[in-house]
Amino acid sequence: MSKNLYDLFRGRFPADLGQPFIETVDGHVFTYGDLDEASGRIANLLTGLGVSPGDRVAGQVEKSPQAVFIYLACLRAGAAYVPLNTAYRRGELEYFFSDAKPTVVVCRAEFEAETKGIADTCGVVHVLTLDEAGGGSLTERSAGLSADFATIERRADDLAAVLYTSGTTGRAKGAMLSHDNLAANALTLHKAWGWKPGDVLLHILPVFHTHGLFVAIHCVLLNGSPMLFMGRFDADDVIKLLPRATVMMGVPTHYTRLLAAPGFTAGVCRNMRLFISGSAPLLSETFHAFEERTGYTILERCGMTETGMNTSNPLDGDRIAGTVGLALPGVEARVTDDDGTVLPVGDTGVLEIRGPNVFKGYWQMPEKTAEEFRSDGFFITGDIARIDDKGYVTIVGRAKDLIITGGFNVYPKEIELLIDEMDGVDESAVIGLPHPDFGEAVGAVIKSRDKGLDGETITGYLKDTLANFKVPKRIYFVDELPRNSMGKVQKNMLREQYKDTFTGSS
Ligand code: AMP
Repeated sequence: MSKNLYDLFRGRFPADLGQPFIETVDGHVFTYGDLDEASGRIANLLTGLGVSPGDRVAGQVEKSPQAVFIYLACLRAGAAYVPLNTAYRRGELEYFFSDAKPTVVVCRAEFEAETKGIADTCGVVHVLTLDEAGGGSLTERSAGLSADFATIERRADDLAAVLYTSGTTGRAKGAMLSHDNLAANALTLHKAWGWKPGDVLLHILPVFHTHGLFVAIHCVLLNGSPMLFMGRFDADDVIKLLPRATVMMGVPTHYTRLLAAPGFTAGVCRNMRLFISGSAPLLSETFHAFEERTGYTILERCGMTETGMNTSNPLDGDRIAGTVGLALPGVEARVTDDDGTVLPVGDTGVLEIRGPNVFKGYWQMPEKTAEEFRSDGFFITGDIARIDDKGYVTIVGRAKDLIITGGFNVYPKEIELLIDEMDGVDESAVIGLPHPDFGEAVGAVIKSRDKGLDGETITGYLKDTLANFKVPKRIYFVDELPRNSMGKVQKNMLREQYKDTFTGSS
């Protein structure tokens, strides 16, 4: 039997294909029938351009219903979809195009000339366009084609998508995800989060990342449900749409922005069943403030591009702030030391994951892939974590963020949690900075609402609680911490900005 992921979804569509799949903020409705037809037309266009099963199709497009249809068309045509962040510029595109060698690239109309230039130098033959409103050559050229397309048979291990991620270190790597990887994770999440008839998702995430493209949309498709589809996060729009939704998935920044909006009240949430957060750590403070304002506890989960979702706080049971919950059914999680020895419960080490959700490896990087897997099949995530006696996982940080100062290991999260607790502090990022004596020295970058708060007060407080080598040697105050579109603090930017603090070099 074909393992094409689209067939799995197709079997779950509502019997009445006139039921809504996507409703945009301005009220345009695309039904399940529209989805089936549009993806069929685009699949016909792609195959007509020479896309064969196993080929790659890249999309660097704004969020729109058509962007979702391209992904589904790729599944149907047996191609691997390569979604690209709209923030990527020339240098990055050159790398992605020459690495993935897509047969077709879909770009934004305003970048057509530039993208064609890059495509030419990388040997990519076909460039199509798609604008935010759904226009462009992709739509024009597929409009006259048949909506009938016999979805191509795929095996479980055949590739469905290649997602570029910076992963643990170095240059972006293409994570190869198979039809079965995506199906396994989607079915697990659909069940774990109790999707049921009548659910409506508020979709506010980008569709070039695993969170918005896979986690959110796959749950909706498996449930045959509608989603209210926002082009980008806007607190007023969320407040307007939430009363019609039952499930929302967001990054922590979405929740803090909602809490900052006076119009965000318990009443607005009256129809909601579940708020889910992930992609970056949710501060305990946000978790509790949200509960106080709305009566809901946010369900925090954790995963990554290479694996899909690995852990989740429970739907029924204790959702524990500061943890990312329990390993999902079918997913094994363990914590090891650098040599791969499994550590006792409660010890901090590297998080390793095994399960049907774990990717097939990095695109054309067999050596890199081999380095990131243990011989028994566990994937070394690069997250530092601990697992308590009840199985709850706490992420302490990324291995690459670990600071080694004078030979001592310092986990930034331990210090950040203490700083964040202080009056007047909004949030903090602790980083390692090159130091002539210690190798690295601890530095802290703090967003504070109290302009009177100074570095000495903070170090004074920390000295009472922490070993001296963990206390930041330098503290910077900023208006905002730099974050990417998934809400992750970009520590690499901070390290770059403050790298000369102790060395004095230019
Ligand atoms: P990405 O591949 O872009 O999805 O990034 C994956 C990484 O994001 C993980 O390895 C974690 O370091 C981080 N991450 C995702 N969700 C969470 C979470 N709920 N709490 C803390 N870190 C998270």
